[in-house]
Amino acid sequence: MDAEVIVVGAGVNGLWSGYHLASQGIKSIVFDQFPLPHTRGSSHGQSRLTRTSLVKKVYADIMPECHERWRKLQELSGRELLVPMGVFSLYNIEERGGDVDTSVANLKSLKIQHEVIGGEELSTRFPGFSSNREFRGVLDKEAGLLKPESCLLALQELYRKQGGKICDCTPVTGIRVVNDSKVEVITKNKVYTCKSLILTCGPYINHLLSSLNLKLPVEPVRALAYYWTDKTGHKYNLREGFPSSFLHPVGKTYLYTLPSFEYPGLMKICYHCEATIDPYQRDKVSPEDQAAEQAKLEWLKSEIVKHFPDIDATDPAITEVCMLTESVDKNYMIDFHPKHKNVIIGTGFSGRGFKTAPVVGRTLVAMATGKPQPYNMESISLKRFRDGPKLEL
Ligand SMILES: Cc1cc2nc3c(=O)[nH]c(=O)nc-3n(C[C@H](O)[C@H](O)[C@H](O)COP(=O)(O)OP(=O)(O)OC[C@H]3O[C@@H](n4cnc5c(N)ncnc54)[C@H](O)[C@@H]3O)c2cc1C
Repeated sequence: MDAEVIVVGAGVNGLWSGYHLASQGIKSIVFDQFPLPHTRGSSHGQSRLTRTSLVKKVYADIMPECHERWRKLQELSGRELLVPMGVFSLYNIEERGGDVDTSVANLKSLKIQHEVIGGEELSTRFPGFSSNREFRGVLDKEAGLLKPESCLLALQELYRKQGGKICDCTPVTGIRVVNDSKVEVITKNKVYTCKSLILTCGPYINHLLSSLNLKLPVEPVRALAYYWTDKTGHKYNLREGFPSSFLHPVGKTYLYTLPSFEYPGLMKICYHCEATIDPYQRDKVSPEDQAAEQAKLEWLKSEIVKHFPDIDATDPAITEVCMLTESVDKNYMIDFHPKHKNVIIGTGFSGRGFKTAPVVGRTLVAMATGKPQPYNMESISLKRFRDGPKLEL
């Protein structure tokens, strides 16, 4: 055997899996198709939000361990990975007021410091926000910003230091399951063998799963990160204590914001995108999707005017392109392949899976090595599709 466990995909979830394997003394290899670091997955860039103020309990419950593990990684690597910052989740009271109560209940049960704030108090508490009676929100005081490029570097370094092997520039072109304890992983130059395989392939997952006759209900979608000018030059600054926020106005679309950090004087304000793409041709967008993106951008501008009076909403100063792996119900998919217990899948993170990777990686490794899963993740397993959208096998 070349390894006990092989991991395909060196994004944040694959690297945390590799890190846990190496920490447990398990021989492993992590493959990635592109030279590392690269910008053709979902894990690159300089900022991701992390918070416990989540509505779904299955995610909130794992956050204390995730934060502890991110902090430990920071200490071991000597790199700054996690910058403390408050994160606001603001909901339109009539439409989603109940979500504030649910996330407050989760925060209370996990003993996370937080504060409930009415929309009318916003501008007095945080000049930079407009007050808005429509909203009510919760401020997660133990949240923060993760620095993805530094996180990935730290994981790569520590994984290698503990004996792990990373093969980048190595696309895995096929998989053959020989039996319950042997899988063949096919690359251009060699067929590798292992006992179990972990697939953390992000938006490319269905390309590889086709060799195991499985198609999951996930879509690669284009994500646009917009950075907007702070007219004051200083008000919306992370280091000066301006919080991050998720704003849920009426309707399906929400916006999320990060104070200026990556680009001095520019605040990140984005919406959740929907244009489906082929990940191998990320920038090829249909004319209909381009028109939809433009319409959403106009909506975003009108929301910025409403909520952030000192942001110049004329046009974004910078736009960056990225990808998400969106599952049909916007929830993670963590499970064994329905026919092969030694092929483990972690995908469908739907724009939320950076912060949770320490525990997701630990879970995937437990599954690959025959150990009990550390948390009950049945609600985000593939079982939920038994009676719903079909898995194509
Ligand atoms: C703009 C943006 C903002 C986001 N904001 C947040 C946030 O604030 N908080 C948060 O928690 N999350 C956020 N996310 C989501 C988060 O970044 C992703 O969920 C996470 O990075 C997914 O990581 P992954 O390891 O599953 O996949 P990826 O990072 O996509 O990695 C998959 C890897 O697999 C490799 N691969 C695929 N197929 C093969 C193959 N056949 N052979 C070899 N290699 C292969 C790819 O090359 C790639 O490197 C955001 C995402 C985006 C795009």
